[in-house]
Amino acid sequence: MGKQASSRGLWVNSGNGVSFVPVDIGHQDYMAVVSHDTAFWALVGRDELADVFSPDHPLSREYRQKAEEFMQEMDALRCSLKPSAVYVNPTERCNLDCSYCYIPGDMRRDGVDMSSEDLIESLTRLQAYFSRHVPRGFRPEVIFHGSEPLMNRRAVFDAISHFGDSFRFGVQTNGTLLDREAVDFLTSRNVGIGLSLDAHQPGLMATTRKTWSGDGVFDSVLASMEMLRGYDSYSVICTVTKQNMASLVDVIEFLHGAGVPVCMLNPVRCTQPGGEAEKPDEAAMAGHYLQALERSHQLYRETGRKIVVANFANIMLSILAPTARKLMCDISPCGGGRCFVALSAKGDIFPCSEFVGLEEFNGGNVFRDEIDDILETSAFRMVTGRKVEQIEPCHRCAIRHFCGSPCPAEAWSMHGHMDTPGAFCELYEEQVRFAMRMIADGHADDFLEDGWDNGAETIVDFSAPSCRA
Ligand code: SF4
Ligand code: SF4
Repeated sequence: MGKQASSRGLWVNSGNGVSFVPVDIGHQDYMAVVSHDTAFWALVGRDELADVFSPDHPLSREYRQKAEEFMQEMDALRCSLKPSAVYVNPTERCNLDCSYCYIPGDMRRDGVDMSSEDLIESLTRLQAYFSRHVPRGFRPEVIFHGSEPLMNRRAVFDAISHFGDSFRFGVQTNGTLLDREAVDFLTSRNVGIGLSLDAHQPGLMATTRKTWSGDGVFDSVLASMEMLRGYDSYSVICTVTKQNMASLVDVIEFLHGAGVPVCMLNPVRCTQPGGEAEKPDEAAMAGHYLQALERSHQLYRETGRKIVVANFANIMLSILAPTARKLMCDISPCGGGRCFVALSAKGDIFPCSEFVGLEEFNGGNVFRDEIDDILETSAFRMVTGRKVEQIEPCHRCAIRHFCGSPCPAEAWSMHGHMDTPGAFCELYEEQVRFAMRMIADGHADDFLEDGWDNGAETIVDFSAPSCRA
């Protein structure tokens, strides 16, 4: 708290007093009050809202005692972590030419592969870094992903065989190159598998995801999904564009019917012109997006089986249990260069794969440079130093710590600097308000993976429906 001012902090929202911002969450009975510095929040009956601003109200009294602790927790989450994961591009090449891909087309068409030996050597170097910075017993994560990692299947499988249980492995694939042998190899080692599917039917899917000759790939992805039915560590990413935003409810129904346990509805990243061209109208998209979330909830209620929308679940977690969330996009500074790094097929290290096409964010090379030094380069500092408090209008936004103002790569590509929000401010607003409504109605668990709260601790609990877990 600001100790340089003489204010004793007696009053809410002035001097050294706690700050509570009321937020209309669109619920008939409840409003939220949020302290945007610490991400503390409470739900308050609409007719009791004025009482909360009294210095004697239990909420302000209790919060005043805990505010410093919450601030330290938020600072630790935002500024003290070291990378414990790496997103690996084992090849620059891809067999597809999706319209919104963030990897430049010439790289995907004619790029290089990393050899098995180089991949193992680079992961050995990263493993040495992780062993110095990650708590004992914690297994760092290695995720192979885009371009299309299975274009270099030999190196990926050699690395997974070589390191075994030393890492938690994942593969994000376009799903067209998985065969029975690959599925058996990956599932027998409990490797996380993510597929990409943007639509519930072939024609719509082909508007964005297609081969270099323009052919759709729906059927081959579907064949992969069938092979993975029943596998727990499996998810599907649907990139939301202007093409498919009106079909998100259908997509959710389709994925649920196909037994997919977890999906992501990722708004298209506008880091390359192709992505920006697919950007949907945001207000319309937010409406479709919330309908899809509601449909996922109905399906759970109807069948007893969840389809978790992981990126929304992460926002829900940022509200309910900030330290349990995945530290990737919706926190500021984001996870890029801070919680993980990206390794290119040439051994170059970027803060996040979204920067792989932006050479000015190349921090160095895993074969030549020390990871510690790479993390201190200006290329990385620009990303890891981007804070939501420095961005207009985020610095005065009550939900800024549930959103994080992603994405720095997008802000850079669209505006030439980092101090702007990314492309989807309103979508975040609406997701946070929806999450608060679901919490008010006691439905939060229905949107989260089972067991999300194992080990979570309630720090402040009021009998009115307000909480901090
Ligand atoms: S916000 Fe952008 S740069 Fe940061 S982790 Fe997400 S995709 Fe990467
Ligand atoms: S992008 Fe929008 S919702 Fe997110 S912190 Fe900034 S102003 Fe708030």
